[in-house]
Amino acid sequence: RPLIGVLALQGDVREHLAALTGAGADATTVRRPAELARVDGLVLPGGESTTISRLLAAFDLLDPLRARIADGLPVYGSCAGMILLAEKIIGGRPDQHQVGGIDMVVRRNAFGRQVDSFEADVDFTGVGGGPVHAVFIRAPWVESVSAAAEVLARVPETPGAGEAGGRIVAVRQGRVLATAFHPELTGDHRVHRLFADMVREA
Ligand code: GLN
Repeated sequence: RPLIGVLALQGDVREHLAALTGAGADATTVRRPAELARVDGLVLPGGESTTISRLLAAFDLLDPLRARIADGLPVYGSCAGMILLAEKIIGGRPDQHQVGGIDMVVRRNAFGRQVDSFEADVDFTGVGGGPVHAVFIRAPWVESVSAAAEVLARVPETPGAGEAGGRIVAVRQGRVLATAFHPELTGDHRVHRLFADMVREA
C-alpha cells in the first residue's frame, strides 16, 4: 500500500493523519528530507502558511519538496496548504516562500474578518455521494487559475454569500490538489479518499 506523508512542521497534522487512515491509506509524519524521500504522496495541512513556509526553509525541505512535485509527487494542501501550493499569492508576507505546483493566484484571509469562519455545502467534482460540508477558517480563496488547472468546487451562490459566492475553493492540476477548506475536520473522508486514489494511480 502506498504511504502518504503529512508535513508535520505546524498545523492540523493529527487531523490529516486520522482522515487519511479513515480513508484507508497508510499515513506518517514528514519533518526531514529523508522522510520526504520515502513517501508516495504528501499532505500540506491547515495552519499558518507564513510559519510553515519559514519552517520548510529552515528544515531544508523547500527545494526537495519542489523537486519531488516537479517529479510528479501527488500533493494535497488544505487551507494554509493551498496557499503554499499557489504559484502566486495576494496578501502574503514579504518573506513567505511559495512551494508552487498549481498555476493559480490565491488570496490569503480572503473571506474577511466578519466571516472569519463559516461553513457551506459545496458540490465537489470527482467526489461522489452528494455535496461536501466545507469548513472555512481564516481561509483563502482562489482569485484566478490558469487553463492548466481544473476548478473542482466553488462557494455556492446563495443570497447571503455576498462576495464569497461563486469563489473557487478547490482546484486540481495534475497530481496536485488543493482545498481552501478543511475536510480533515468533519469526519467525512471522501476528499482524502480522492487524494489516496490519486496517490495509488501515480
Ligand atoms: N490564514 C491562514 C494562512 O494564511 C490559513 C488558515 C488555515 O489554514 N486555517 O496561512
